[in-house]
Amino acid sequence: MIIKITSASAFGLEGKKVEVQMSVKESSFSSFRVVGLFGEEKKELEERVWGALKSLKKDFSSLRVIVKISPVNMPKEASIYDLPVALGILSFKEKFNIPPKSIFCGKLSSDGSLEHIKGSLLFTLFARKKGFKRIFLPASCAYEASAVKDINIYPTENLKEIVSFLKKEKKIKRAKYKEKSEIFSYNPDIKEIIKKENIKRAVEIAAGGNHNVVLLSGIRAKKINFARALSCMFPLLDHRESLEVTKIHSVFGNTYAEEGLVKKRPLRLVKPDITLERLIGGGVFPKPGEVTLSHKGILFLDRAERIPKSLLRRLRKPSKDGYVIVFSGKKRVVYPAKNLLVFAVSSCLCRKENCTCSKESLKAYNKKIKDFVTDKADMSVDFSKKEEISSLRKEEVEEILKEMKERVKRARDMQSKRFKEENIFTNSEMKKEEIKKYAFLEKKAKETLKKESSRNDYLKIIKVARTIADLEGKISIRESHIKEAINHK
Ligand SMILES: [Zn+2]
Repeated sequence: MIIKITSASAFGLEGKKVEVQMSVKESSFSSFRVVGLFGEEKKELEERVWGALKSLKKDFSSLRVIVKISPVNMPKEASIYDLPVALGILSFKEKFNIPPKSIFCGKLSSDGSLEHIKGSLLFTLFARKKGFKRIFLPASCAYEASAVKDINIYPTENLKEIVSFLKKEKKIKRAKYKEKSEIFSYNPDIKEIIKKENIKRAVEIAAGGNHNVVLLSGIRAKKINFARALSCMFPLLDHRESLEVTKIHSVFGNTYAEEGLVKKRPLRLVKPDITLERLIGGGVFPKPGEVTLSHKGILFLDRAERIPKSLLRRLRKPSKDGYVIVFSGKKRVVYPAKNLLVFAVSSCLCRKENCTCSKESLKAYNKKIKDFVTDKADMSVDFSKKEEISSLRKEEVEEILKEMKERVKRARDMQSKRFKEENIFTNSEMKKEEIKKYAFLEKKAKETLKKESSRNDYLKIIKVARTIADLEGKISIRESHIKEAINHK
């Protein structure tokens, strides 16, 4: 008997159709062959499927099973096909039909229960797009998938349950999505950032125009708090953005996605020993890297001076184009990677309070920072600068944060309107043409800019000044905006 069951796979951030075709018949000796999977994958699938079938305490000996999982040349995670393969065998043995226009995905454990799989949101989006009526998924994946409307999603606990359902003996309750309400919350440590006028202002400007920032000197915890303060300035993701971000975390297997659609912009922290694959993405089954996991949010590069130059160079493309390309064999996968980069940099190599570095090493160090880090950012904040600290009560902090958030929102709304006809969203993405079109400088502003900026910094200062003007709701850029932008350079 030939049995065909539809399943799915993820390639990049797209769901793809996978067909599990099986030939099952009684035979004097049992055998199991899989075409379309290789090596360990094939062996493990066989072990999981037979282990789960055994848990049903029925006789499955003397079956000859040939499974073909196609397309053969597409990289796929074999465990997703445990469920369709087991159902194929069971439908032959127990004589029930596999319903048409249905997709089945799930990993089996030896007691017959279904384990979590990655990418269920993508599979469900694919199923709806292609006109499938229902999708069967492990129960733990159903909530994430239920963000997709107009398709029936069946959360399945175990093999026994799904067989009873397909034999029409038992019902399975379809998954329903319940919108979460996001409450404004913040890490209390960011109070330290809000207290310092200059640093607080840098947070507002960076968030307002999505400008990359270099954080110089100071202790690590303060720099992390800067990133936290930045992340709390961002507006929540809208529905379209939210789907896109959740797809990334779904395919990566992050718990963010299990909790339903991601609403808050991600803040991801990268350490200097990160590998190219973890940063940019890739692998046999291509996976997004940190540049993509922080899409629409913040990527914090801790001790950026220690990250190899070759890796820092790889950040140039996503910074410029908003996406990365990774290769899986000969296939090319494109992941979105539009984020705000925060480079946390130590003041010198010894990182001691009373620096013991030689003059030469300091010079070389500063040059390295300039060439590979500072050049990638529009702004910098020096944490070693002495600044007056104001004392604030909790309510005052909340009030300040609220006001900052409002100004950031206004500035970002202005940018959305401004760039409606362009392929960019924020001031930080402006290139020469857009600057000419959208950054009108008043006469005095022009003069100050000419006098006080170097050729290298010219465009960056205008971009930041554009954001400062937006925060004030001003159409043209004034001298004070330019001066403040230079101060944050
Ligand atoms: Zn030193």
